[in-house]
Amino acid sequence: MTFTPTACPRLVVKIGSSLLVGDEGAVRREWLETLVADLVERRSAGQQIVIVCSGAIALGARRLGLSHGGRRSLDDAQAAAAAGQIALSQCWAELLGAHDIAAAQILVTLGDLEDRRRYLNAAATLDRLIGLGAIPIVNENDSVATEEIRFGDNDRLAARIGQAARADGVILLSDVEGLFTADPASDADARLIETVDAIDGDITAMAGSSSGSGLGSGGMASKVEAARIATTAGIPLAIISGIEDHPLARFAETRRGTVFTAEAGANARKTWLAGRLTVHGCITIDAGAVDALRSGKSLLPAGATGVTGAFARGDVVEIAGPDGAKIAHGLAEYDADTAARIVGHRSDELGDLLGYAPRAALVHRDHMVLL
Ligand code: GLU
Repeated sequence: MTFTPTACPRLVVKIGSSLLVGDEGAVRREWLETLVADLVERRSAGQQIVIVCSGAIALGARRLGLSHGGRRSLDDAQAAAAAGQIALSQCWAELLGAHDIAAAQILVTLGDLEDRRRYLNAAATLDRLIGLGAIPIVNENDSVATEEIRFGDNDRLAARIGQAARADGVILLSDVEGLFTADPASDADARLIETVDAIDGDITAMAGSSSGSGLGSGGMASKVEAARIATTAGIPLAIISGIEDHPLARFAETRRGTVFTAEAGANARKTWLAGRLTVHGCITIDAGAVDALRSGKSLLPAGATGVTGAFARGDVVEIAGPDGAKIAHGLAEYDADTAARIVGHRSDELGDLLGYAPRAALVHRDHMVLL
């Protein structure tokens, strides 16, 4: 499947520190304005945008007077991230605000996206923000993430956000043009690889070179790893140069970069959902709900008739029809006990029943695959 970033409905764009932050440790604002202009143009054409943006550590290092771009120790990086994130958020709020677009900051850790409940929360928030016309700006919550729960680089974060946001494409803007057969700085025969259909040993070996700037943490290896995460979930990923002004418009024109293709979306997503998770319980539904699910709707409590098994929010459950036939698999929005309390109830009764603002669906259509 060809990946057309200009046409895909929901796109994640990742901006690395070395592009965003100049030599003096300040935001390259003029360049960023040209990228924002590209993003605004895409958005006017109906494309939904999520941004993953690095640069907090590099910006904060300057503000706090830390050496080595704030990366001398984990403590330094975490302090720098805290000080830099404020500047980063302010910058996005101003630049998008100038186009009447609300910037919305989300900071996540690896743990947030690995934990199934918090994954669902992040997915719902991203969806809601996009629905409200805001542009989510995501970064790693570096200041609280310990070594074990850090992404460490925003390339992999961008791929995981692509999954959580059910994006149709991820673009990594980089200080290189893409994946080369050898290091182009030292090998005149080095050739840009335009399309990668399978990430095999050869591709991993070619990814040996690293980002030259020293500001960011992700080299080509982390970009290829991000491509593996995204394509496994059915999302194509492109690595393109962000060095020049208007990088997205330029890519749309030249197509220069490396595109990692993915299997056809629905199938890959189904495999991914099916592959990583075991079924923890079952929700039985009535005939009306079977029809609703088959026409692409979410499963609402009103259509459910019973719950079996012990599952937590975010676990995979089976959904079965009145005759016991398996209809779908999906991630439960409620744990088994709560689900049992609300089956058969209309959505407008849930708030009173539960005593808190409820999720509308028992299983949201975005986290469901029909069998
Ligand atoms: N999250 C880090 C920051 O904002 C950057 C991680 C990376 O270099 O990819 O500075």
